Amino acid sequence: MELRLPAPSLIVLIGPSGSGKTTWANEHFRSGEIVSSDQLRAVVGTGEDDQRASPVAFDILERIVTERMDRRLTTVIDTLGLDDKRRSGWIDLANSAGIPVHAVVFDTTGEECERRNDLRPRPIPKAVIRKQISRFRSLIPALEDEGFDGIHHQQPVAVVPSAIVSAAVKPMVSGPNAPHSFGLSVSRFAWEGGAATMAERLADIARRAELAGFRDLWLMDHFRQIPAVGRPWEDIPEAYTALGYIAGVTSQIRLGTLVTGITYRNPALLGKMIATIDVLSSGRANCGLGIGWNADEHAGYGWDFPEVADRYALLEDTLEMLPLLWGKGSPSFAGRTFSASELVCYPRPLQKHIPITIGGSGERKTLALVARYADACNLFGKPETIVRKVEILGRHCSENGRDPAAVEVTHLTAAMVGRDRRDLAERIERVRGRDQSVEAYSDRNNAGTVDDLVSLFEAYHDAGATHSIVALPDVAEVGSLEAFGDVIARFNQS
Ligand code: GDP
Ligand code: MG
Repeated sequence: MELRLPAPSLIVLIGPSGSGKTTWANEHFRSGEIVSSDQLRAVVGTGEDDQRASPVAFDILERIVTERMDRRLTTVIDTLGLDDKRRSGWIDLANSAGIPVHAVVFDTTGEECERRNDLRPRPIPKAVIRKQISRFRSLIPALEDEGFDGIHHQQPVAVVPSAIVSAAVKPMVSGPNAPHSFGLSVSRFAWEGGAATMAERLADIARRAELAGFRDLWLMDHFRQIPAVGRPWEDIPEAYTALGYIAGVTSQIRLGTLVTGITYRNPALLGKMIATIDVLSSGRANCGLGIGWNADEHAGYGWDFPEVADRYALLEDTLEMLPLLWGKGSPSFAGRTFSASELVCYPRPLQKHIPITIGGSGERKTLALVARYADACNLFGKPETIVRKVEILGRHCSENGRDPAAVEVTHLTAAMVGRDRRDLAERIERVRGRDQSVEAYSDRNNAGTVDDLVSLFEAYHDAGATHSIVALPDVAEVGSLEAFGDVIARFNQS
């Protein structure tokens, strides 16, 4: 089994010469992540075994480790690891940077080390290697107390986002006895080719998502790009117009916004638009609603942006009004914030009931509205957070006589998948920014292999979510949705 360590980690190799440290490091890490005393001796001296170059080589090594800890970069220290003072210095360095520090012990037998040494073009003296072996043996029992976060034997290893490491730890309880499904959130549209190719790109992504097994596709409902995603002048289409187009180029996938701020459009107009999407998509519309947050965007477009309490009242009015609008006849509606005299909407939606998802995690108001009016909530955060929110939602359900199992718990998270570690590393290289480390980028986007992401979403399932909506930073790249399809397939099997 591959050992998963959180990114970034400091990894200290410990073992006599010939025990396989350098071979192991090169197999599992990029060359830039490994700092080796042998190599530094070769750089500042006459070769890897130039002992006079040792002090300078170690000075440089210490400097490199310090700099990399400062920048929160995964680092493998490839030295004998037998020097107590140095090890304790590295542990301190990692601790003060808040980075986990792990030891990897190479307990290859003494005879094997000596045999390999004899085969080297420049073997080190027998007496030296024997001294290393005995020093190594006496060191091992005491290692436990040195303060490493983990001590491991040489084995395959991968450094992965911390969320994936914690997900791999199986919880005591198992999650809902329900299948797990997936949705795709598209929030960034600044693709190569720009506006001229947007239609083609959107169609391509939606069709590939459909083939990969995503149940639904969600567009962000904003009118200029939001700060968390990109610059305000980046390309972003109006969500419902785009969904109308996507409806025409797909046949299976469900369509909605994650989520529509209730302040952007007159609520009855919004209901009419969603009904139209439902009709034109043969019954595939979702209705995503939230109270909105983006004051600047409202000011920019000249829209009112009421206080929070008024936005909740508007949301609640909308939740009460929509079934009237989507139903038969021409009922009137008098709410807290608006009235309508004739809610006529023909054609009526094809679905008997358009499912409503309320976005947001607000424990007192939002989740109470979910319990009273909605089919699904959309949370975000780590599995620990989801557990808490699900519990609170459950309480709101009981207070309102609603079966908690009737409310779907969805959550939104970034994810990035590679077919294997190499494919993943190549993908990250293509999309990460110049100033972002692989570690930070992977962590922010939950980058992992298919196995990693299966563990991650199992943890979300165990936490109580049965639908994961993922934002893939490389969604427009060939193979991204297809690789995610392998994750989805694993949940369909079990
Ligand atoms: P280090 O001195 O601990 O860095 O050891 P190296 O990684 O340089 O390995 C010493 C020699 O052992 C090299 O010739 C390697 O090719 C060989 N070696 C390393 N790991 C293994 C292994 O797992 N199996 C075998 N058979 N040879 C290995
Ligand atoms: Mg070596």
